[in-house]
Order: sequence, then structure tokens, then C-alpha cells
Amino acid sequence: MQGLVGRLCSVRDCHLPLVREKRRLVCPRGHSFDVARSGYINLLQPQDRRSKQPGDTAAAVAGRRRLHDLGVTAPLLSGIADMLAASKSDAVLDAGCGDGFYLGSLARQAGFDAHGVDISIPAVDAAARRYPDCEWIVANADRFVPYAAGSFSIVLSITGRMNADEFRRVLRDGGHLLVAIAAPDDLIELRGTGRDRVARTIETFARDFTLTDRRRVTTAADLEASAVHDILHSIYRPMQSKPAEAMRVTFSLDLLLFQKTMR
Ligand SMILES: [Zn+2]
Repeated sequence: MQGLVGRLCSVRDCHLPLVREKRRLVCPRGHSFDVARSGYINLLQPQDRRSKQPGDTAAAVAGRRRLHDLGVTAPLLSGIADMLAASKSDAVLDAGCGDGFYLGSLARQAGFDAHGVDISIPAVDAAARRYPDCEWIVANADRFVPYAAGSFSIVLSITGRMNADEFRRVLRDGGHLLVAIAAPDDLIELRGTGRDRVARTIETFARDFTLTDRRRVTTAADLEASAVHDILHSIYRPMQSKPAEAMRVTFSLDLLLFQKTMR
């Protein structure tokens, strides 16, 4: 069966379908998950809370949002939208959605059914407040993407994690996967030339997906010291000790579009 987006219980060895009640979701075994005041669903398991990568902090989420509000990431959004060419009939999962900027903006433009998953509670809470028309879930998509097989026509991984097996499972036959990774010249003024991750990323998905398109989207912005500070603290935390000053900063993503390979 394809066509319906179904949420699954995230309890290990359960994974049965969840039924939505007013303020919670519950599975046939009685595992229950609350809907937060802001509207997101928390499917995080205890073993995920102990993860070494709990995701963005509230301060990092706020810093990133200020960068989005300055418009510096708008050309990246536009490049992703052009490549995706999503329509109203699509069902889209953003795995590692962060504060929801990309998924929420794309959904407003194209009108599709949008679902975002991230491990960071502050990030997903911010997403739910800003983009209430989308569904937002806190979960560890590295471990298990809490949706039924064939739920989505498109999966996005925008500078996020890459779980090839799970992305394949939740995609419908013929569905597309868009992966965005930092290009070597991303933030080059702040971190020098980075690694080219394209070949390794294609390799990660080669078994389950066929590469159908590949683009690089690059923009630069003249930023004040406060915005540079936000980048240092919200995107590359190891660089926190470096003093922020006004400068021109390059933002650059390699975009890879894959299609689920038929077996
Ligand atoms: Zn359950």
C-alpha cells in the first residue's frame, strides 16, 4: 500500500502504527507520545536522549534563525526549490530539519504535505511555532525514521544525517532524495577550504539510489560582526573562540538529486 503518510511507534522492537488522539499519539501496545503545546510530537527514546549528538541548542537555533531572517540563505533555498520542482501532490520528509526553515519555506511555496524530523527539541519547537501547517517530530532519524514504508515521494537531507536504508524504506517507488552538503568553498573565509564530500556522498547512496542531477549553489553576503558571530556559534561550534568581525562570507552547497532504484 502506498499513498498515506503513517507515523510509527519509536519504541525499540515495536514500530507499530500510531493513532492520533487529541493531545497524544498511541500505538496498539499502549506506548503513548505527547503532542507538545507548540504542536510537535516527541518520539525520542531514552537511548536517544543519551546520544552524544543531541542536536542544536536553543542558542544555536536562534543564531541560525537570525541568519535566515537576514536573507543570506534565500539563494540556497531557491536553488533547492529549483532542483526539487515539488508539487502540491508530493509528500515530503525532511530528515534533520533543524528549525524548519527549508522545509517550511518550500511547503509554503509548493503546498505539499510536509513532515520534519530532528533530534533537537529546541529546533523542532521553533519549527512548530513558525510553520504550523507542517508536521514536526522529535526523533533520532539516525536510528529509525518513524514513518511507514512508502510514506513519501520526496526525502530531503539538508546538511543533515544520511540514513540510506531508512530513506529508501520510507520513500515510495520512484521517489526522490535530495541531499545537500557543504561545498568546499562554504564559509571559506571562516574555515578555509573544506573537503569535497560529493564522491563520498554518492557512494553512501549508490546501493539504493541513482544520481539523476547534481548542482552547486553559491552565494555571498556582507555581514556585520553580530551575524558572523551567529555563524561561528550556530554552525561551526569548534570555531567559537575566534573573534567575529564584519566581513563578506560565502555560503555554498553541493546538491545531489537521487531516485530510488527499483530492485
Ligand atoms: Zn509501540
